Amino acid sequence: MNRSEGAGGTSAAEWARRDAAAVWHGFTQMAVYEDSTPVIVERGEGNYVYDTDGRRYLDAISSLWVITLGHADADLNRAARGQLDRISHSTLLGNGNTAAITLAEALREVVPVDGARCLFASDGAAAVEQAVKIAFQYWHNQDVTDRTAYLALGHAYHGDSVGSLSVGDGGFGTDLFDPLRFPVIRTPGYDDGDWAAKAVAAVDRHHRRLAAVVIEPLVQGAAGMLVTDPEAVAAFAATVQARGVPLICDEVATGFGRTGALFASELCGIRPDLMCLGKGITGGYLPLSATVAASHVYEAFLGEDLGPRTFYHGHSYSGNALACAVATRHLELISERGLIDAARRAAGRLGAALEAVEALPAVKEVRRRGLMTGIELDPPPGASKWGRKVCAAAVRAGVLLRPLGDVVVVMPPLSITDDEIETIGRTLVSAITEVAGGEAGA
Ligand SMILES: *Cc1c(COP(=O)(O)O)cnc(C)c1O
Repeated sequence: MNRSEGAGGTSAAEWARRDAAAVWHGFTQMAVYEDSTPVIVERGEGNYVYDTDGRRYLDAISSLWVITLGHADADLNRAARGQLDRISHSTLLGNGNTAAITLAEALREVVPVDGARCLFASDGAAAVEQAVKIAFQYWHNQDVTDRTAYLALGHAYHGDSVGSLSVGDGGFGTDLFDPLRFPVIRTPGYDDGDWAAKAVAAVDRHHRRLAAVVIEPLVQGAAGMLVTDPEAVAAFAATVQARGVPLICDEVATGFGRTGALFASELCGIRPDLMCLGKGITGGYLPLSATVAASHVYEAFLGEDLGPRTFYHGHSYSGNALACAVATRHLELISERGLIDAARRAAGRLGAALEAVEALPAVKEVRRRGLMTGIELDPPPGASKWGRKVCAAAVRAGVLLRPLGDVVVVMPPLSITDDEIETIGRTLVSAITEVAGGEAGA
């Protein structure tokens, strides 16, 4: 139904061949890539992407959790073009640019961090890496050199650089990198109803050697959308901060409206000492991330010029003007278009649309907070790759999905419409029913 066929029909296969011959895709086995009927996207419009044959797909994963307002938004395009004519990039090392300053000022107004200071980077992993190093040096700058441990949660995902991988809990075939990881005190993730009490006990025991605690507030995304209550996060955060240990909130996935607030930390009523932003920060347009530091953290780095208190860390594209201009306009548009309220309403409708999915015998559980949704399938013993197969069936029906193991992730843009939510629900019911081999259709 979502076909508007281009001439020929071989062009997608030809692009896939060229792709497989030249590009190396992350988290992808390239030996089978070409045969896996990848969607080769040529353009996007609103909540849809279009492949090289002109086939249309509803982007139900926001292009891996980054798109917020839809693709090729006219207002964001205008902001990008406007900045393009001024300047695309100039370095933030030792100098400034107006686009980065404007964005830092705008973020400071909305981020739940006291006296927020932004250190920009380009990827979520780099924002976490910066936070981990800032926390380490924060103590060092106060002549405390024995706080070298971090506490992080089971199933945590914080990115793929070595430092962010270390605070993460592995999985996804990354265990071979274990010898490169620094040791972390690990307490259970959100799938344990007692995670907060157990994490509090660990902080009580180890706080004197902790440089920082890292959490994904409210939702552990890459873990398969494990969710917890705001009260549990608040109680844990209170213990951490009462002990004087910096709390790092990784909001790379939860930020910018996904959970039904601009930031999940707001829903929890917490104010982290360090906060990591990425993914949706530019509406999914350009690679940009930020580590936001509270003033007491930032001030620990003030000292003499070229002195030891300086944070000796930086990235070439830090504060990229093009990305910052788009991010600033994106924040304005979220407010102008009332997108947080819209996302909250859409989340309610998504919950209703997924009731039929949850009722399927092949579904173990639907976990959701705002628009962040994980549908855990319940494959019988011996069944393989259900997550993959369900998503492939959905893609064939024109809804772009990608699983995490046997969890089908649904994370639509904040701009998702009621009809599109219905389409996602209906398509999932058919796809799951098809794969589970039950009666056809729904
Ligand atoms: C995606 C993600 C990251 C890593 O961001 P990249 O931009 O992919 O490096 C870090 N933390 C969380 C919670 C994420 O979901």
